[in-house]
Amino acid sequence: MTNDMTHKQEQYDIVIVGAGVGGICAALAAARLRRSVLLLEEMAEIGGTGVHSAVSLICAFRDNNGRPINNGIHRELFPQAYTHGKGLFEVEETVPTYDEKQLKASYQALLEAEPGITVRTGHKVTGVESKDGSIVSLSAESVNGETSRVGGRVFLDATADGNLSALAGAECQMGREEDGKMQTATVTFKMVGFDPAKLFNPRITTWGGIHSLRKELTVYYQQMKEAGGTNNPRPSVLCFPYPDGRGILFNSTAVTNIDPTDAESVSAGMREGTEQAVQLAEAVKRHPAFAQAQVEFIAPKLGVREGRRVVGDYMLTADDCLSGRAFDDMVAACAYSLDIHDPLGGGAKLVKIGGPGYYHIPYRSLIAKGWTNLLLSSRCISGSHEAHSSYRVMSGVSAIGEASGTAAALALWRNAGDVRDVPAAQIRYVLQAGGQFVEGRVEKVSLKQPPAEPGIKR
Ligand SMILES: Cc1cc2nc3c(=O)[nH]c(=O)nc-3n(C[C@H](O)[C@H](O)[C@H](O)COP(=O)(O)OP(=O)(O)OC[C@H]3O[C@@H](n4cnc5c(N)ncnc54)[C@H](O)[C@@H]3O)c2cc1C
Repeated sequence: MTNDMTHKQEQYDIVIVGAGVGGICAALAAARLRRSVLLLEEMAEIGGTGVHSAVSLICAFRDNNGRPINNGIHRELFPQAYTHGKGLFEVEETVPTYDEKQLKASYQALLEAEPGITVRTGHKVTGVESKDGSIVSLSAESVNGETSRVGGRVFLDATADGNLSALAGAECQMGREEDGKMQTATVTFKMVGFDPAKLFNPRITTWGGIHSLRKELTVYYQQMKEAGGTNNPRPSVLCFPYPDGRGILFNSTAVTNIDPTDAESVSAGMREGTEQAVQLAEAVKRHPAFAQAQVEFIAPKLGVREGRRVVGDYMLTADDCLSGRAFDDMVAACAYSLDIHDPLGGGAKLVKIGGPGYYHIPYRSLIAKGWTNLLLSSRCISGSHEAHSSYRVMSGVSAIGEASGTAAALALWRNAGDVRDVPAAQIRYVLQAGGQFVEGRVEKVSLKQPPAEPGIKR
């Protein structure tokens, strides 16, 4: 990996916009297939939501029998989660969580191991040049106001909110069908320095312990709410232990009516969420175990759960997820429940995935409708508001990223005129070779032969 801050016009095989979990997994997958990859990120540092909004929980990635169905780069990122129980939420089972600093270090190490990846942080993509449904180049503005242009063959939208697709003019949707409202946004924060011995169940790294802690803290939070001491609409406290049991991540503020495509709205949301975080920390400190506790940090970035969903060749529905649907063109899978944080501010409603406990994500949902070289590589893939509430978590998005990066590299390998020309069975073959879980027929690709001359035909 090189961290190149120059501003020349350059050409890459694959250009990925957004360095969150989706963009990073895509970059790794594509570079491991020996393609040149540019990863553009508007923030000063890579990591996206999972690092800068600190979310803590490694969400479900196993089927009903405990078998991992996200087994590729996700496993490289969170190896410890694969040694914990079977993800059945049993009282004595360890809660699978991560530390955001460790995650960032893992991202960094994996990216640095790939010389084919150029990471350019502090660069916001602001323009798209396209011709006949094909992206030709992007323009990006650096933090010091310089504009650069980069060309590519395949472009991946890993911006979470579909920003690249929207700039290109691709069709997008936002919010739930009835009123366009989206899930609440959250400012998370971490507390340390508490005394577990003063808790009813001190084993907070287990499901039994963390549920008990939430109940204890909710009493103080509700007292504050009743006294009008907070404008947080959430009914109860949601928190998770850090893996070492010394810190707690509070994912428990709720800001309604945030539009992530409007900078003013995001700033106002950050202010309101921070205020709620300070209020909640005050309520928590009223519990004797937290009398000496401190807030170690308030996340620097508003945690946005939902934004644009790009319309693709297939839109995944709630029914597809809940019935555990299998698709012939599956390239990823997801086992996490539908999890909608009430857009009006109530709690979260979780509905478990039926059938085998997971569903397939079809390749068609990763292809922006009407575009030949635009793949979706983050939570902005093509699906309904309800379906999005499930695959948006890092287990789902990492698999989406890995699949889209693989598909992009194979499109170049085949010199395909359109990303649609890559057979899903070949994507699965490569994914499987890398350890990822796939189902369905696989078609062998000779990875020994040198790639064709770079270039999707236009
Ligand atoms: C409060 C909260 C709690 C959550 N809890 C959990 C949890 O416990 N477990 C879990 O697995 N998931 C959780 N999630 C969901 C999960 O964290 C995210 O959905 C997931 O990390 C999104 O990954 P991504 O790659 O799609 O996007 P992101 O990680 O958001 O990355 C997108 C990147 O694109 C960049 N970008 C955007 N536009 C541009 C542009 N024009 N130019 C350049 N760069 C751009 C952004 O700066 C960002 O870095 C939670 C989410 C929130 C908000």
